[in-house]
Order: sequence, then C-alpha cells, then structure tokens
Amino acid sequence: MSSYSINKIKRKRSYSIAEIVSLLGIDRRTCSRWIKDEGLKVIEEHTIPLLVMGVDLEEFIRKKRTERKIPLKKNEFCCFKCHKAVIAKIGSESIVKTGKRIGKENREQFRKIGICEICAGRVTKYLAVSRKD
Ligand SMILES: [Zn+2]
Repeated sequence: MSSYSINKIKRKRSYSIAEIVSLLGIDRRTCSRWIKDEGLKVIEEHTIPLLVMGVDLEEFIRKKRTERKIPLKKNEFCCFKCHKAVIAKIGSESIVKTGKRIGKENREQFRKIGICEICAGRVTKYLAVSRKD
C-alpha cells in the first residue's frame, strides 16, 4: 500500500477504473472492492465507465494508509493533522448518513465526525450500521 504513488494522481481530473489500475499498478478487483466495499467515491453511481475524481482517489488512499498505521479504539478518530489516534471534543461528535451501502451484507454506511481534542481540526471516520462505534 505505501508504495502507491499518489503524487501521480491529478486531483482535478477524473479516472476510470482501468486508468486507476494502470496508474497505481493494482488489481482491477482491488479497485472494484475499494468502490463497492470501502467507500471510494465515484462521480456518478450508474455511469459506464465509473469515474473517480483524482482528489477523492488521493484522499481515499491517504485515509487507507493512516487507518492501517493507527489502530483505533471505539471512541477514537484518526486525526490527519496530529497523525495519531485522538478523541473528539466532548459534544462535537455527530453521525451522518453517507447514503451508501457497503459490504456483502449491504450495511448502511455512516460517517462520524467530530473536532479533534488536540488540534481542533475536523476528524472523520466511516462506520457501518451494525458497528456503530
Ligand atoms: Zn488533531
């Protein structure tokens, strides 16, 4: 994962799956899984080919990297500014529906947002409905 060269991604252009596959040197199935199960945003759900904005692709990979590096406890977020697991300020947390369904069980996806207790930056994490932590 850390070998993906995200600096090749142009934030303002869109990429098809085939382009992402060749840009990052990943398997097509990996890319499909990112979209279907792991929340990689597509510009429009039902277009062929599916297109992903460079900025979303880049953020998705950054998020994957950070999540992998930092194991989070239930009440923790990963703060991108602090580069570590943090707790949100009391009262700053809220949960919003992303409108997506993920995984084999087609679970509803939520985004939990809050304000980092340390740097006061915005922190976000994604959850599925069966695991509201
Ligand atoms: Zn922070």
